[in-house]
Amino acid sequence: MQIKSAEFLMSNSKVEKCPKDRLPEYAFIGRSNVGKSSLINMLMDRKNLAKTSGRPGKTQLINHFLVNKNWYLVDLPGYGYARVSKSIKRTFQKFITDYFREREQMILAFVLVDCRLEPQPIDLEFMQWMGENGIPFNIIFTKADKLKPMALERNIKAYTAKMLETWEEMPQHFVTSASNYTGRDEVLNYIESLNSN
Ligand code: GDP
Repeated sequence: MQIKSAEFLMSNSKVEKCPKDRLPEYAFIGRSNVGKSSLINMLMDRKNLAKTSGRPGKTQLINHFLVNKNWYLVDLPGYGYARVSKSIKRTFQKFITDYFREREQMILAFVLVDCRLEPQPIDLEFMQWMGENGIPFNIIFTKADKLKPMALERNIKAYTAKMLETWEEMPQHFVTSASNYTGRDEVLNYIESLNSN
């Protein structure tokens, strides 16, 4: 998919206030600092469309970007910088869980995971919650340029093994780097294939 246009539309903390039209949308979520803003800017081929983590307050909202005038890219707040909490409910802010439960035009969420780290409990808990609530998601491994190919492969194998402890299969996943544009075509073409279904 070619990106012909990408424009910021609105920020909200309430699902009811999100765009009312029925364009398909794709949500991006992950731990703070996972590289979400960089990935969004890379996918859209823009330097400053999504705010990078220098200004964390700005990302505590549901941000809608209209892409090619026919789908939304949704930038959700990073989770995981709150203190470790006892329950999932307290860990994931209510407006995020409301968003996923209520937003019918949300086709697929991309859960971002830093390829350098071993599986983080909060990411696994979040994906568990998504599974239990029947919300479709894929995984995007970020910052692939920071690892040598062998180490990258080893980490993804280890991640897959961890997922298979609770999942029947490894969810579809993409390997990306915002620094060198790795994975850009794969993610965008996948979105395009879902849009044309
Ligand atoms: P966010 O908090 O998830 O939006 O993360 P940011 O996009 O602000 O990135 C956090 C930090 O990781 C920044 O210092 C980025 O420059 C760096 N970063 C993000 N993506 C990449 C990447 O693909 N490669 C490298 N080398 N650094 C990255």
